[in-house]
Amino acid sequence: MYKEIPKSRDVFSARTEEIRELMNNACFGQRDVQYKRFSDFTSAHNIGKEVALRFELAECLKLLIDRIAETMSVEIISLMLVERNGTRLAIEVARGLSEEAVKNTKVNVGEGVAGWIAKTGESLLVEDITKDERFPSRGGKYYTNSLLSVPLKISNRVIGVINVNNKTSKSVFIKDDLEMLSTVAEMAAVAIENARFRQDARTQEQMRSNFISNVSHELRTPLTAIKEAVCMILEEIIGTVSGEQKRFLEIAKKNIERLNRLIEGLLDLGKLESKKCCEKRRLFDVIEVTNAVIELLGPLAKEKAISLTKVLPQQKVEIWGDADRVTQVITNLLGNSIKYNRQNGTIEVRVSETDEAVTISIVDTGVGISPEDAEKIFERFYRVKTHSGEQKHGTGLGLAITKEIVHAHGGKILVESQIDKGSMFTVILPKDLRKKKE
Ligand code: ADP
Repeated sequence: MYKEIPKSRDVFSARTEEIRELMNNACFGQRDVQYKRFSDFTSAHNIGKEVALRFELAECLKLLIDRIAETMSVEIISLMLVERNGTRLAIEVARGLSEEAVKNTKVNVGEGVAGWIAKTGESLLVEDITKDERFPSRGGKYYTNSLLSVPLKISNRVIGVINVNNKTSKSVFIKDDLEMLSTVAEMAAVAIENARFRQDARTQEQMRSNFISNVSHELRTPLTAIKEAVCMILEEIIGTVSGEQKRFLEIAKKNIERLNRLIEGLLDLGKLESKKCCEKRRLFDVIEVTNAVIELLGPLAKEKAISLTKVLPQQKVEIWGDADRVTQVITNLLGNSIKYNRQNGTIEVRVSETDEAVTISIVDTGVGISPEDAEKIFERFYRVKTHSGEQKHGTGLGLAITKEIVHAHGGKILVESQIDKGSMFTVILPKDLRKKKE
């Protein structure tokens, strides 16, 4: 969905080289200065590394300013990000400022210290801001003597600014402090941009999911009404219908049913993705559930003269999960192995167990799946195009739903297949997810 910015690695490796060089220099001459620079670079490098490992944007920003505050011992620190339209900066996270200041501070690009940094992309060290002619209008309730302000830059694009005010020791900032903060900002910018991409991708995914779910709900009611009307005409409740008319009405009815299955599948997938599924968890016997599905689908296999056998343990195999959802998994897989099997084919359903997990395998002698398709069949709406052009009825949602259920149970699903030979779908479920979580 999103692309990580590849620069982060380069930044780290370039910095690692720099640190190595400083270590060498530190060993031979100018000892105190070099040691100080070395330790600043190491701190900056460590902060950058730690921040890059955080997944959530808010977490990433909070950690960043906490670490800067600890390492540099400063009174006030704020991190501002440029808003989407590129004209204003807003404080995202701060230390030493009131909640009100954090909420209300918005700065136009080009105005004030942060705005100047955002516009020019340059860093700033001011020993006494009140004596700096570039920022005459500066004032407010926070007393500032010395300040550092550095851009968060991706290539030449400024995405934000880090402001640091007043050392707790009351001494002024020096060039080394500016260098250290610039190094942290250089690495943090990449981490922040990546975290933002992830956040945007998640928001878009959520919006897409809500949209699908809303539209599906809206389609359900009129579709039911259409189906009822078609059925009434077909059953000649309203009046006689000719054979030709019936034929067309049957086609309409079949397609309405198909659309219905699609809508139900989409709603189900929406529920699964929003984690509103598999809530009715209890201990249940997988063997009992498997036998019930075999019994239900047995007649379908018989219609194609498929021999359906099972290899199941004699004793109960209990797992903690949602029995209805696991039934749905086995039904989908067994249903597919019948649908995509040949006439007179075979299917074997196997269940085995270890102390920790249960494995359910369904092996068929059907059309098989190529390695390229096998990678995609768990995606929603993906359906394999057969060489013969023959297309079985389906929505392309069954395996996507199956995968979501299996994952919600902490399990995994695998497929092994060979074109024209057959397929084996394997589901491995932990027996007790509660133990896994502990
Ligand atoms: P549907 O069966 O509704 O098309 P699924 O999500 O259940 O959707 O399956 C996706 C695709 O994977 C199917 O269209 C089919 O091409 C392929 N497939 C699934 N199970 C099998 C199987 N046992 N043998 C061969 N192909 C299969």
